[in-house]
Amino acid sequence: MKPLVAITGASSGIGEATARAFSQERYPLLLMARRLERMTALGLPQALCRKVDVTRVDEVRSALAEAQEKYGPVDCMVNCAGLLQMDLSWKQAYGEWQDMIDINIKGVLNGIYAVLPDMVARQHGTIINIGSLAGRKTFEKHAVYCATKFAVHGLSETIRGEVSKFNVRVITVAPAATNTELVTHTTSEQYQKDWWAMVGATLKAEDVARMILFAYQQPQEVCVREIVVSPTGQPD
Ligand code: NDP
Repeated sequence: MKPLVAITGASSGIGEATARAFSQERYPLLLMARRLERMTALGLPQALCRKVDVTRVDEVRSALAEAQEKYGPVDCMVNCAGLLQMDLSWKQAYGEWQDMIDINIKGVLNGIYAVLPDMVARQHGTIINIGSLAGRKTFEKHAVYCATKFAVHGLSETIRGEVSKFNVRVITVAPAATNTELVTHTTSEQYQKDWWAMVGATLKAEDVARMILFAYQQPQEVCVREIVVSPTGQPD
């Protein structure tokens, strides 16, 4: 049997497409998000679906414990759960800042915390964190989102170096605009429309999932450190 792959944010968009891509390759899966019904509706074989809020490390850990009991040690953890709420920083609700920090930074850290010590002990494993083009450059109305994604890139690269000698890989996949539900969480409908006008072409979630699968399926001694992917027609 292939090793267990755990994915957060598996109820929609890139996480859902990643679940489908790994499932086609016959990996047993742990799917985590808050909308349990969306994950069970995927109907994927050998997939344990658990309602998990990634800001709650206890929930992440208990879902992983259950999945590992069933399928053995987790060999790949994809930290995909994320939130974008666009607004100008001087008028954005403080709660929106908090939610993005909690989900995009602490959520990723919780996923890492829950698997990394065991991977180091086993001297095997891969963590794939979903960064963003917004983790490499800045965009208006994305101040806190950019801050969270710069954080993901920074912590991923630091941890990658630390665990490299233990045969554990840390990979950052940084997509440009991708056609998912991400933009729908922004309060202002005008800003949502502006986003679509600004980005022009978008990637499909399946395009990003293919990158994630590609990076994981390299031999363990090969670490794709970072993938930055955008539509070909996107100039910057
Ligand atoms: P979606 O909104 O479609 O997916 C976001 C996922 O995160 C959902 O499955 C959602 O599930 C989950 N999620 C959000 N909050 C929590 C939480 N507290 N606990 C558990 N799960 C949570 O957007 P995308 O697929 O686009 O986003 C996936 C990742 O890709 C994010 O990290 C995003 O920042 C990143 N990204 C997206 C880009 C884009 O243009 N779409 C570009 C670059 C990066 P639920 O609500 O059920 O909990």
